[in-house]
Amino acid sequence: MTHPVPGPRGAEFWPAMQHCHVFASSSLDRAAHLRRDEAALAEMKKAPETRLLPLWHLRGLIALEAKPALSWQPMALLDDLADSCKELIFLGLDEDGVACFAVGLEIEGNPAKSGALDGAGKFIDVRTIAPQLGYGDAAILAQARALIDWHARHRFCAACGIATEAIDAGTVRSCPAPDCGALHFPRTDPVVIMIALWQDSCLLGRQPPWPKGRYSALAGFVEPGESIEEATRREIWEEAGVKIGAVHYHSSQPWPFPSSLMIGCVAEAESPEINIGADELEDARWFSRDEIREMVRRGIEEPDSEELALPPPLSIAFQMSNWWLNAD
Ligand SMILES: [Zn+2]
Repeated sequence: MTHPVPGPRGAEFWPAMQHCHVFASSSLDRAAHLRRDEAALAEMKKAPETRLLPLWHLRGLIALEAKPALSWQPMALLDDLADSCKELIFLGLDEDGVACFAVGLEIEGNPAKSGALDGAGKFIDVRTIAPQLGYGDAAILAQARALIDWHARHRFCAACGIATEAIDAGTVRSCPAPDCGALHFPRTDPVVIMIALWQDSCLLGRQPPWPKGRYSALAGFVEPGESIEEATRREIWEEAGVKIGAVHYHSSQPWPFPSSLMIGCVAEAESPEINIGADELEDARWFSRDEIREMVRRGIEEPDSEELALPPPLSIAFQMSNWWLNAD
């Protein structure tokens, strides 16, 4: 942060807020300039070193070695599985300049249990495997999952209703109708997620369906025509009835389930009064540092505990809460 921060906390409180989260920090160069370069794409598809990541029912193919990793395959796999492949997506170039693609397989039987992918690994749910992958691999898997899911949900033109087709190496969909021609881009839905602070305590809430004992940062979609700061103040007011003054950006996390970007904020409460809204929360309250410290410890050491707990460590809610413990 380069500007002085208003409010009771000094500027020294805020600079350490830049965090890297699971699903961020991809090791790939997205190389967007190559997406429309048909000659370059054709070369990359033919190159023997080019890498292909298959997903099946949005699960990524994982090589289960000592440390799980993405199970990259040669492009020749496409010849074997042509009938079950949907859009081929150019993800980018790796650190050695090797092209990386993803493909979604639409096939009934698990392709990792027989045929071309037998022995290549296991198709695993992205959220389940992410904590065991390196940050780079988890981010690549997030990118692939989000794009494959977006294609599946946007097969038809939102303007005229006819079937669209993938262009630009699987990163855009185009309407072929001569009198329409609309272009459709992958969507990312902004969600604000925030901890509010009052003196030496932190506001968290819980929703009725959550596991017993779990409390988390409040969160909600940013609405059309609304800033991040306004959405943060509105959500905390609607859900917990807490008046908010200054709002500070903390960090963000791609959350490809299916297409959210979690925008983490720290909000300064103007009073400790809480009035829980009728719709969403079962409870909201202020937590002391000692309580949060214990919840962080439990999240790492006793993930199945039914005592007071945060969401899992891969979540931005857990990471922001943990940040606050050491914030000043
Ligand atoms: Zn159209």
